[in-house]
Order: sequence, then C-alpha cells, then structure tokens
Amino acid sequence: MSFSLYVHIPYCLVKCPYCDFNAYGGRSWPEERYVDALCAELRHAVAQPAWRAEPIETVYFGGGTPSLFAPASIERFLRLVAQLCPLAAQAEISLEADPASVSQDSLAGFGAGRVNRLSFGVQSFQSGLLKTLGRLHRSPDAQRAISWARQAGFANLNLDLMFGVPGQTLARLEADLEQVFACRPEHISIYNLSYEEGTPFFVWRQTGRLRPLDEELEVAMLELIQDRCSSHGYHQYEISNFARPGFASQHNRRYWTGHNYLGLGAGAHSFCREPGWGRRWSNEASPRTYMAKALSGGDARCFAEDLSHDQARTEFMFLSLRQLDGFAPETFAARFGLSLEAAFPQLHDLIDAGLLHHTAGRLKLTRRGLLIADTVFAAFA
Ligand code: SF4
Repeated sequence: MSFSLYVHIPYCLVKCPYCDFNAYGGRSWPEERYVDALCAELRHAVAQPAWRAEPIETVYFGGGTPSLFAPASIERFLRLVAQLCPLAAQAEISLEADPASVSQDSLAGFGAGRVNRLSFGVQSFQSGLLKTLGRLHRSPDAQRAISWARQAGFANLNLDLMFGVPGQTLARLEADLEQVFACRPEHISIYNLSYEEGTPFFVWRQTGRLRPLDEELEVAMLELIQDRCSSHGYHQYEISNFARPGFASQHNRRYWTGHNYLGLGAGAHSFCREPGWGRRWSNEASPRTYMAKALSGGDARCFAEDLSHDQARTEFMFLSLRQLDGFAPETFAARFGLSLEAAFPQLHDLIDAGLLHHTAGRLKLTRRGLLIADTVFAAFA
C-alpha cells in the first residue's frame, strides 16, 4: 500500500516559549550526521515488508525548522528516497520554513531540488505579537521570504498564522488576514494558541505574566477567520486549514483519511494499517540518542503499540471529523463491522445538541461543533 513520508528536523534557532514540539534551539546543529542518520533509517525502513517497493505519495519535512538545513542536505536525502522507493514525479514535497532562516539562494536551492511546496511559519505580520510569541523574524522578513519563494518558482505556498495571542484584538487579526490575502498564498493554516504544559507560556499564564484572551473573543476571531477566508476564495476543509481550489494539503489529507505514513527523524511518529486494527510507533525524541540508534542499525524506535478495535474506532472519529466534509457512515460500518450508532450511542446527544449533523449522506461537525471540536472529540474517547 502506498504511503507518505514525514521527516522531522528538530533544530531551531531559538525555542519559542509556546512551543511543545520536539524542537531544540541553538546556533549550530550536526547537519551532516543527522542526514546520515535519516538515510540510515530510511534504508532500514524500506527494507521492511510494510514499506518495501511501495510508492511514496507525499513527503513532508517538518520540525523544528527544516529550512535551517542547506538545500544540498535536503537534496541528498531526497535523492536516496528516489533511489530506494517509487516516488511519483508530481509527488507533493513540502518543507516548513522560518522567514528568519531563509535567503534568496536557499529558497532557489530548495526549488531546484525536488521541494515543490513551502510552508512559512509567519504567525503574524505585527511586530508586537511576534515579540510576544518569541519569534525571531519581523514582518518585512516574511514579506521578503514569500517574494523570494515566488521568484524561485514555487506555485504552492502555505502561510501559518496564529490567533488567540495575548494582546491580539479583532482589528489586529483582521489586519493580519488582509496582509495574508495580499500575499495570495495557495493555502493558509490558522492555529489557535494553546498553553501546553511544560512550556514557558503555560507557566506565564499561571503566574499572571500572560493573560489569555476571553473565550468569547476567541470564538469571534474564529468566526472572523472563517468569514474572511471564505470571501477571499479559501475553502475551509479542516479545523485549521483553508485552501484555494485544488491546493488542500495532500500530505495532511492522507493523515486524516487513515493512510499509512512513515516518520523518520527524532521523535517522529509512524502508522501502518496492518496488522490487525493498525500499528503505530515513534522514535527516540532526543536527537543525540536518535542519531546513535539510527546510525547503528537503522532502527530508532522506542515505542510501538497495536491498536485495539476501540482505539481504531475512536481514532477514525477524531481524524474524519476534523475534515469539514466529515465521512459517510457506511465507510465506518464497512471498516469496523458495526453501525456508527451501535459503536457510539452518544451520537444522538451530540446531534440533538447541534454539534454534529447528517447532511448529504455524511456526518459532519456543525458550525457550533467546529468551535468546540475538542469537546466533541472527547465524547468519543
Ligand atoms: S520555530 Fe516552530 S518548531 Fe521551532 S520552536 Fe518555534 S514554534 Fe517550535
């Protein structure tokens, strides 16, 4: 069965105080050794029956900040991918980029390699909010990076934005959205800031150094985002994702529709639909331990589990309902051998409460359900 490849690059120039990703700040990183480790892990993985000779549909370099690596390093790895696996000529190959860490040359280099989609971590065009978020770049850096990407021939750009940032107002969010639309990206991801345990933001909220926005304001922000994106021709196809026609992220779509994916790199996660109800595993999170393990045999896993029937059903609900077009109940019945209502009697309550609805033969979140999607998902756990 075909699969997607996720490649984790865990290095950043600084660690942002809200970030709970497996990312490490610093001014230097062992780039060559890390790419050697990725190559060793790839060789080992694609010799396993689940991945051997299977076509790769999409590749995604995430992080961390993959744009810190030289284009030649990314190209070296992609050459090995193409050598070892069938990789479609038009496969979507995305790379996350930080506006503070790119140059005209580096973007041209990524484009000359096989990367054909860039995802810029813009977050905001306003210096005050970027400062609050601890980001290194400022608005002109993002504008310049986007224009360099276009000059390098990239015809598929994503911009990441954030809302719910302390100090942000509806007017400031509106100004950010207008700037995004003026850049005419093909895709926009807009995330609600969350205060994750273990981050400085979590502590600063507890100690009163940061004051989160009111929930009502956040709801108004989400509604503003949905209305403005829609009136500028961006279709919301997932909770946080909007795209112009034909530009939904193929890589993420495949996650949400339960396709196989192989994660390489420190802390990367993988999923395979077989055996049984599916198996997932993850790698050592520490880059040092990851490299040591990957370079001595190729296997850097530290956790694996086979999903139970219950876990697989719950995961199906989370992933399917994230997408605005939901899913056909028959798909669920065919996969799990029982009806949706039999598996989840609480479904009726969620429909009665106006959080889910059946429309055009599919079960979907309502607009209200979308605003409190995490609460809806928790009902299936
Ligand atoms: S640049 Fe991105 S991955 Fe790196 S620390 Fe900041 S938010 Fe996390």
